[in-house]
Amino acid sequence: MKVGIVGLGLIGGSLGLDLRSRGIEVIGVSRRHRTCEVALVRGVVDRASVDLAVLEATDIIFICTPLTAIAPTIEQLLPYLSPKTILTDVGSVKQSIVRSCSRLRSNFVGGHPMAGTAEKGIEAAQSGLFVNAPYVLTPIETTPPEAVQAVEEAARAIGCIVYYCSPEVHDRAVALISHLPLLVSAGLIETCLGEADSTVLQLAQQLASSGFRDTSRVGGGNPELGVAIARHNRPQVLQTLSQYRQTLDRLIDAIQGENWQELEEILQSAQQARPNFLKGS
Ligand code: NAP
Repeated sequence: MKVGIVGLGLIGGSLGLDLRSRGIEVIGVSRRHRTCEVALVRGVVDRASVDLAVLEATDIIFICTPLTAIAPTIEQLLPYLSPKTILTDVGSVKQSIVRSCSRLRSNFVGGHPMAGTAEKGIEAAQSGLFVNAPYVLTPIETTPPEAVQAVEEAARAIGCIVYYCSPEVHDRAVALISHLPLLVSAGLIETCLGEADSTVLQLAQQLASSGFRDTSRVGGGNPELGVAIARHNRPQVLQTLSQYRQTLDRLIDAIQGENWQELEEILQSAQQARPNFLKGS
């Protein structure tokens, strides 16, 4: 199998490292010459170019660009593709991407490997990033089954656990467990920065340790990715944020009204439910 990757950043680069380590030939395309050079030196790809034409003879192409560039990249790729070439993307949002990309190309499978770090770019690529991570595939009625099977095989080859759902259900689920935590975590850091007393703020920064590290991790990541997620998954993100605001109000009401029973019930429910969200980790 010959695999193409467009967008040699954290996800595209990590994918290249893992596919190559399984003996699969990988041809990469990125926007900048320097990124292509680093990708070659780091062993992310067998060949790299800024020209999409090099992907002409590939069997599967993974589009790993930022969300806004996924559909435009597919449009630019079309003249170079054989009818058999399968296209898939790794975007963190699926409904808008699958809608626009499936219109451009029937042989397209929406996908989302659910692994990442706070870093970005080719320097951040790392091998083994996807081992035991969920890889969600979101085929629609018109997606050819053989294309879905080929992407599933590639996802399994890099050690992922494959899940299937509709693009809509994907976006609602990741809004809850990925996009909401990102924004809440960023909001937490922002709230601390709002402390007007510099002595208190300085001491807080000195005292912050594992609890703050855990809860602030996803909010301290790549800002461009956070904005792209909010733009592309806007209705679901807004809905989960307003649900969260209601929960905050329940917490405020309980504490303001000294309703310790209510507060304890909320905390007990959270304590009991948490393991259900972490079964795979
Ligand atoms: P990233 O590290 O910034 O990498 C994206 C790369 O795409 C950049 O390094 C850039 O390479 C290249 N690029 C930008 N525009 C391009 C274009 N028009 N044509 C070709 N290459 C282009 O971002 P990432 O975190 O890997 O995210 C990539 C995709 O993965 C996004 O769609 C995101 O939603 C998804 N995703 C991210 C995560 C995560 O946690 N980070 C997890 C799962 C999925 P140059 O250096 O050449 O400019």
